[in-house]
Amino acid sequence: MDTRHSGFNTKLVHAGIPHDEHGSVVTPIYQTSTFAFRNAQEGADRFAGRAEGYIYTRIGNPTVTALEQNVAQLENGFGATAMASGMGAVSTVYLALLSSGDHVVSTDSVYGPSRGLMEKHLSRFGVTSTYLDTTDIENLRRAMRPNTRMVYVESPSNPAMAVTDIAAAAEIAHAHGAVLVVDNTFASPHLQKPLDLGADLVLHSITKFINGHADVVGGIVIAKTEALHKQVRSMMINLGTNMDPHQAYLVSRGLKTLALRVERAEQNAAPLAQWLEGHPAVAWVRYIGLPSHPQHELAKRQMTGFGSMIAFELKGGLEAGRILMDNVKLAGLAVSLGGVETLISHPASMTHAGMAREDRLAAGITDGLVRLSVGIEDAEDIQADLDQALAKAGGR
Ligand SMILES: *Cc1c(COP(=O)(O)O)cnc(C)c1O
Repeated sequence: MDTRHSGFNTKLVHAGIPHDEHGSVVTPIYQTSTFAFRNAQEGADRFAGRAEGYIYTRIGNPTVTALEQNVAQLENGFGATAMASGMGAVSTVYLALLSSGDHVVSTDSVYGPSRGLMEKHLSRFGVTSTYLDTTDIENLRRAMRPNTRMVYVESPSNPAMAVTDIAAAAEIAHAHGAVLVVDNTFASPHLQKPLDLGADLVLHSITKFINGHADVVGGIVIAKTEALHKQVRSMMINLGTNMDPHQAYLVSRGLKTLALRVERAEQNAAPLAQWLEGHPAVAWVRYIGLPSHPQHELAKRQMTGFGSMIAFELKGGLEAGRILMDNVKLAGLAVSLGGVETLISHPASMTHAGMAREDRLAAGITDGLVRLSVGIEDAEDIQADLDQALAKAGGR
């Protein structure tokens, strides 16, 4: 079925699914490492690109292709390349697009390893980078240099929920001959379409909202143009950051309900954020759907919803954070996000405990900061769980 002009939900269910000779309704798992040619000529034609067809699973596999075509349509891109993990997607994009002597400008609160890979490793190959607060677009404009080849934005970012103006970032990047890459993990393609706003490449940790069931690690890169798609794909093939067919099958299964999951989680998150904002144990709440969020108006303009990620600060700091973590019962004490289950984490004592306190604070990760990925359970149950745990953490 040609779904290119269909609605988002129809694409989720039908886009990219090939109809094989058995009429299977979902794409089967092609659990094979290699594909036999009918004769030498066919093998030669496939290698030379004269004939369509699969060669070897690192290069391409029908189960993976189905997922790639689906997500490419969701993001309105030319094509997509699925990867072993979100970081597989990030590293492949860096290596595909950057050369020695190039400069990168990026959001200071991007996903930690995306920044670490750039500052600790790409730097060894002569790539320089500037990390700054891109919620003020003038910061980005000032940081551009003649050798800036990439602007890399994460919006909303983790865990500060900072929102960057993607259309303005695209304009600045393009005026300097740079590409704009957007990490769209926190929004998902249901709430934000960066390519439509002017970005050149979009990437996702598929582990989060797209798969949505906390059972797969994966990534994907969607390119606006054929040229960029080919560059990324060729680097993926050479690096071996490909997605496995079984992974792709599970993600395709989770993806079909993306819109339902995201909408339901937002229905839970929006009133919860409001309730937290009025709670005596809570100093402040960052939820992009709240008018108190500094980029609430911008988020309203460039996104079609506010999602289900909430960050909040406990008045009691580090110790209150620990008590809260030890007393939640419904919310799972875990990193990661975007799944059907509510997860809670305390960056200062968990993911960012290894960081010097002043570096942590500079990145906006305060001692009492709690990150909540709201799931699709019953809203009353999530709130009751937090309420009893917050009471112990010192607010009543
Ligand atoms: C999790 C995450 C990544 C990394 O993805 P993995 O699948 O864990 O490799 C990248 N960016 C963001 C915003 C993430 O949340």
